[in-house]
Amino acid sequence: MASLLGCLLQLREKNDHRNEIVLPAYTCYSVASSAINAGYKIRLCDIDPKTLSYDMVSLRNMDTDRVFAMVSANLYGFPNDLPVLEHFASERNIHLIDDAAQALCARVGGRFVGTFGSAGILSFDKGKNITSLQGGMIITGDERLFDQLREVESSLPELDAKGQVKEFIKVFIYYFFLHPVLYQIPANISFSGLGETRYEDRVLIQKYPPMLSSLAKDQLNRVETVTNSRIRAGKYYEESLDQTDKLAKITPVPDSEPVYLRYPILIKDEHVRSRLLQEQRVLGVSASYPKSLNQLSEIQAYLVGDAACPVADQVAAQIVTLPTHAYVRTQDQQSVVDALNKYCRN
Ligand SMILES: *Cc1c(COP(=O)(O)O)cnc(C)c1O
Repeated sequence: MASLLGCLLQLREKNDHRNEIVLPAYTCYSVASSAINAGYKIRLCDIDPKTLSYDMVSLRNMDTDRVFAMVSANLYGFPNDLPVLEHFASERNIHLIDDAAQALCARVGGRFVGTFGSAGILSFDKGKNITSLQGGMIITGDERLFDQLREVESSLPELDAKGQVKEFIKVFIYYFFLHPVLYQIPANISFSGLGETRYEDRVLIQKYPPMLSSLAKDQLNRVETVTNSRIRAGKYYEESLDQTDKLAKITPVPDSEPVYLRYPILIKDEHVRSRLLQEQRVLGVSASYPKSLNQLSEIQAYLVGDAACPVADQVAAQIVTLPTHAYVRTQDQQSVVDALNKYCRN
């Protein structure tokens, strides 16, 4: 993400001083640190609690005179309303970056997430649908941007032999811990979270080591199997959970096909929520991300405009995500659903 945002900014015309980026107030923290590392000021936009996409009223009211780019979120495999965002961005002459880090293979209107706007990213970090622990991919149809990215890529430092061995060992351990028999261990040491829940201000851009990229490539060949099993798990939760005053499900945007990297719900009763998170943690139930971007003290100095985003704050306080990966057993899913339906009854 950081390399793409940096390259994009380099492509501005000489007299173009726009240096702001619009981010949804609830997304992965590394999106904010990538933007800051690339040299942007951040303008936050509140989200819609029903879809987790941008709140379009806030977005349309936003002062975009100094905005150069905006980023989608597509969290947990649920696409944002990308056709609407793409239209908005082009109307205002803003670059849309379509963040498909959590939504590989998801679609809106038959079109893949990551292919909307000026460019898209896929991430192969840990916790994603496909992972080589690090690395990612940039998708663009813009030739100038493509050439610029190529140039930057070829000048990046390579990981040395020692670094490569270290990466290999990390990958090995990661796969070992994901083994179903050991599933409880990663849950208990909170090893299997979705990306980082801590804010890291330094973003290191390195060449993608071939050893790691070949791992990702291998998984890309099997991506349909992996994705379908997540979709099955997601649909099971969708069908079995009761929407009540205490539990709200997320509604996919029109004409979209989510891939359910996790299954997010909002729990409106604070006590029920903390009880669930405690009791069901071993089954892989977790809260991510604990704060909205406007609540991160580390980025306050880079925020412009009115940063109040009450809905994003509320989502951060209420969200709970359920696991959908291939090692979640059916009986574990059932007991998560039973507990939720019991605790959240009206
Ligand atoms: C993991 C993640 C990223 C990270 O992207 P990198 O290219 O690895 O920096 C970005 N956005 C979201 C939503 C993520 O989950």
